[in-house]
Amino acid sequence: MQQTYDIVIIGGGPGGIGAVVEAKALGMKSILMIEKGDNHSQTIRKFYKDNKRVDKNYKGQEIELEGTIDFRDGTKESTLNYFDSLLDSNQIDAVFKSEVESVTKVGEIFHVVTTTAGYKAKNVLVAIGTMGKPNKPDYTLPLSLKERINFNLDKCSQGEKLLLVGGGNSAVEYAIELSKTNNVTLNYRRDSFNRLNDINLKMIHEFNGQEKLRLRLGMDILSIENENGLVKVNFTDGYYTIYDRVVYAIGGTTPIDFLKKCGITIDADGKPEFDENFESRVKGLYLAGDIAVKSGGSIAIALNHAYHIINHILKHK
Ligand SMILES: Cc1cc2nc3c(=O)[nH]c(=O)nc-3n(C[C@H](O)[C@H](O)[C@H](O)COP(=O)(O)OP(=O)(O)OC[C@H]3O[C@@H](n4cnc5c(N)ncnc54)[C@H](O)[C@@H]3O)c2cc1C
Repeated sequence: MQQTYDIVIIGGGPGGIGAVVEAKALGMKSILMIEKGDNHSQTIRKFYKDNKRVDKNYKGQEIELEGTIDFRDGTKESTLNYFDSLLDSNQIDAVFKSEVESVTKVGEIFHVVTTTAGYKAKNVLVAIGTMGKPNKPDYTLPLSLKERINFNLDKCSQGEKLLLVGGGNSAVEYAIELSKTNNVTLNYRRDSFNRLNDINLKMIHEFNGQEKLRLRLGMDILSIENENGLVKVNFTDGYYTIYDRVVYAIGGTTPIDFLKKCGITIDADGKPEFDENFESRVKGLYLAGDIAVKSGGSIAIALNHAYHIINHILKHK
């Protein structure tokens, strides 16, 4: 007979890993984590530049960790190593390369359906982040430039002339890092940065002042064309520039369709609804991490959500 897990955790990022560790620490017996990538922490792997600094108090948000995880400032690599060690020392069932497609509650039991299998659980924690579906610009992007217009840094190589688009911490951190090996321009439609943490704000102006990169602020992109296989970018100031590659870092979208399929209700702002314990209107179905914040999530916030949820489940079982 198929096992019914105490908890199925969907997503192997900080929220999911946090839940694994806390569930083990607090004595939950049967735990399954399902991750669609071939390894845990796909957001950190795909969207963080190599050697990127990882701040615990990301974007200046001071977070006191509540659970057992001792996450600290580090780099992309040290953070991934730490999460490796957490998963290694907390032996649980885990399935990779498996995307959860829906969650349905039948009586008191959840049926979790992936691309390849089905699982049963008493509780489900959804920690799928928001980066699976990056935001895209309104204008049309030529299909012929598909390889040269990206939404993460996977395809960037050294020496390319790059345009980064966006005004948040991700865009600025990409620009700073890439400018060490590339000719980089950062384009933001507003005149100044108003969402940056202090370190990024200081660094971007320093790098600009030292001409390590170029800022194009206060203008938007009108259109993009293919010019001999390269990316011709037409700006609203009437000028154009040709780049080897354009990378958009304009945030991610909450995967609403998936959440709806799981029975999670969505509010007028398009955000999932949950209570102070991160429990959706379906009892036993929880949301953690980036999908459970209005804006500006972080690793430490995701870890605290997980701690809170596991405690709530155990107190109310
Ligand atoms: C460029 C960049 C830099 C950042 N720098 C920092 C920093 O320095 N410090 C900091 O604290 N935070 C930083 N953040 C934010 C931080 O990465 C996120 O807040 C954190 O990763 C959120 O964790 P999460 O578990 O909610 O989601 P994610 O980390 O996005 O993990 C979600 C996981 O779920 C998987 N998944 C998605 N859908 C499914 C599905 N249907 N089935 C199965 N698996 C699924 C994904 O593959 C992924 O592995 C940064 C973010 C970015 C983009």
